[in-house]
Amino acid sequence: MDRRLFLAGLGSIALGGAIRYSTLGCTQSGNSETIKQPEPTLTIGPEIKVITPPEKQIYLTIDDGPTSYTEQILDTLHPDDRVTFFMIGERLDKQNGYDIACEVLKKGHDIGNHSYTHPFFSKQTIDDLIREISHTDKAIDAAYKTVSRENPRLFRFPYNDFGGKNMRATKRYLKENGYIIVRWDRDLRDWEYHSGRASVDQIIANVTKAKQYDIVLCHETRATIELVIPTLRSKNIRSSHLAKDSKVKTRL
Ligand SMILES: [Zn+2]
Repeated sequence: MDRRLFLAGLGSIALGGAIRYSTLGCTQSGNSETIKQPEPTLTIGPEIKVITPPEKQIYLTIDDGPTSYTEQILDTLHPDDRVTFFMIGERLDKQNGYDIACEVLKKGHDIGNHSYTHPFFSKQTIDDLIREISHTDKAIDAAYKTVSRENPRLFRFPYNDFGGKNMRATKRYLKENGYIIVRWDRDLRDWEYHSGRASVDQIIANVTKAKQYDIVLCHETRATIELVIPTLRSKNIRSSHLAKDSKVKTRL
């Protein structure tokens, strides 16, 4: 994608006259477009906000929180990033897990259900699986209510294990309860960095290979803070809301 400068906000109007003008997803490359003067009651300041459009847009998902890393992850993300955290119920119920979840939501990110104890679903009974989902539901629902936001009801199976012989019953339960099952297009394998099976360069290469609109998986790890997010920022790759994007919803 060509790098273009974006003029945004009322401040740009103060320039007056004809302005070559672009908006995200809509670019006029030929004719200039005249911007109408604002209502005379408005006071237009001289400030011009220059926005560099992202080189690539992905949907970053960060699994297995909340952890002691969550707040650092929030601080490391680009201010425009919107990420989906798939959280584990028993971690939400421990210590300050719930408060961290509320902080995540307040910053505009989403939280999805990633089961209560992160078991292999194929090794559980259907009753156990329903408990895994519904117990986690309670904490996530409460967090969304606390911040007055609507829960988009996203679910990700631990280990990508859809439940073996209980798969159909589990999927039916999720559907009946309004859940969208979220898989992923690219696993960054950040956990391999900590086990010594992946180098810094390999993790960075995994991040760079993510394609436009890919759903990308990583975890609440040091590698995510030190390698994944800094690489996304340096490559000008932005993460968007998974739940709100119709292009993605059809792929879930
Ligand atoms: Zn997980």
